[in-house]
Amino acid sequence: MAHLEDRHRQLERSADAALAAMGDAFERDHDPRSVLSRLAQAGLLRACVPAAFGGLRPAIELRDLVVLRMLLGRRSSLADTLFAMQGLGSHPVMFGSEAQRQALLPGAGDGRLMCAFAITEPDAGSDVSALRTRAERRGDDYVLHGEKVFISNAGLADRYVLFARTGEDRKRGLSAFLVEADRPGLTAEPMRLLGEHPIGRLRLANLTVPAHSRIGEEGDGMRIALGTLDLFRTTVGAAAVGMAQRALDEAKARVRSRVQFGKPLAAQQATQLAIADMRVEIEAARLLCLEAAERYDAMPTETAGTHGQRAAMAKLFATEAAQRVIDRAVQLWGGAGLVEDAVVARLYTEIRALRIYEGTSEIQRLVIARAELG
Ligand SMILES: Cc1cc2nc3c(=O)[nH]c(=O)nc-3n(C[C@H](O)[C@H](O)[C@H](O)COP(=O)(O)OP(=O)(O)OC[C@H]3O[C@@H](n4cnc5c(N)ncnc54)[C@H](O)[C@@H]3O)c2cc1C
Repeated sequence: MAHLEDRHRQLERSADAALAAMGDAFERDHDPRSVLSRLAQAGLLRACVPAAFGGLRPAIELRDLVVLRMLLGRRSSLADTLFAMQGLGSHPVMFGSEAQRQALLPGAGDGRLMCAFAITEPDAGSDVSALRTRAERRGDDYVLHGEKVFISNAGLADRYVLFARTGEDRKRGLSAFLVEADRPGLTAEPMRLLGEHPIGRLRLANLTVPAHSRIGEEGDGMRIALGTLDLFRTTVGAAAVGMAQRALDEAKARVRSRVQFGKPLAAQQATQLAIADMRVEIEAARLLCLEAAERYDAMPTETAGTHGQRAAMAKLFATEAAQRVIDRAVQLWGGAGLVEDAVVARLYTEIRALRIYEGTSEIQRLVIARAELG
C-alpha cells in the first residue's frame, strides 16, 4: 500500500493482533477506564506521545494515528474515542514547557492519566473566538470562571486542557491551561448523547490554578487549539473509514447468507451495485486520509499550518462517505439492521457525531474553500 512505510504496516499488524487477542471482550467492554487500560496494555497509546516521554517514535507520526483509528473504528467507538482523547488532550503541551510535557505525556502514553480537551461552550461552538470563559491573573495564580459543554471524558479525565479568555481580542485573547481534575472549583456533570460517548459539561467557578499551568504565552490559545486540531482532524476521517469498513464487512456477511426470492441477496445485481459503491467510497476515503497523513509527516513542524486543507478534505469526505456506507449497510440488513444489538444499528447511531465534532462538515468546507480561493 502506498503512503505507509514498513514501520506503520508493522504497527498495524501488531495492533490488530493485540486487539484480536482480546476477542469479543474488547468490543463489549463499556467501562471507559477498563477500555483505556486495554489500549495501554496493547501499547497503542504510545503512538500519541513522542519517544522522549515513553512514546513510539521520536516524533508523533500522523500515519500511526490514522492506522490505529482505522483499526479501532472498526471494533469499538468507545475505544476509538478514548484513544483520540489521549492524543487531543495531551498534544497541547507540546506547545508548552518541558515541565508540562513531563507532567502529562508519560501518563497519557501509558494510560495512567486520562486526558480531555475543553474548548466548546454554550455560545462558542464552531466560532471558537466567541469563548466567554475567563482566566484572570491574580498574583501567581489565574482564577477561571465559565462553562464548557460537549467535553469528551468530562468527569472521567484526570487532566484537562482548558481554553479561556485572558484578553479582549477575539482570537489573540485566548490562552490554554493544563488543569488537574480534582482542583476545587472544577465540577463536571454527564451529558447523554446518541451513541456511546463519554461526554459532559464542566463548570468553572473560582477555579484557581498556578500561573505555570498556562500552556505557552498569554494569547497562544488559538494557535495551540488550531495546531492540535490540525493534527487530529485527519484521524477523525480515519475512524470513519474504520467504521465504514466494519459496516461493509457486516453487509457482505448478511447478503451472502440471507436468501430472498430463491437466492442469496448477494446474487441480486442491485445488491452487488450497492456493495461496489460502498467499497469505492471507503477506498477513496482511506486514500484521502493516508495522503493527508503522509504529507503531514513529511512537513517541517513550522509549516504544519499549511496542512489544514488536506486534513479538512480527509475529514469531510471520509465522515460523509462513512455515513452513506453505513446507511446502505442498514438498508441491506433490512429490519434486522435496526434491531438494537445489530452492529450496523450501533454504527448508524455512532457515525453521526463524526460530522460534527472537531469542526462540522460546513466548517471543513469553509477551510477548503478559503485555501482554494485564497
Ligand atoms: C460527540 C461529540 C464530542 C465532542 N467532544 C468535544 C471535546 O472533547 N471538546 C470540545 O471542546 N468540544 C467537543 N465537542 C463539541 C464540538 O466540537 C462542537 O459540537 C462543534 O464544534 C460544533 O459546534 P456546535 O455544536 O456549537 O454547533 P454550531 O456552531 O452551533 O453549529 C450549528 C450548525 O451551524 C453550522 N455553521 C456554524 N457556523 C457556520 C458558518 N460560518 N457557515 C456555515 N455553517 C455554519 C454548523 O456547521 C452546524 O451545522 C464535541 C461534540 C460532539 C457531538
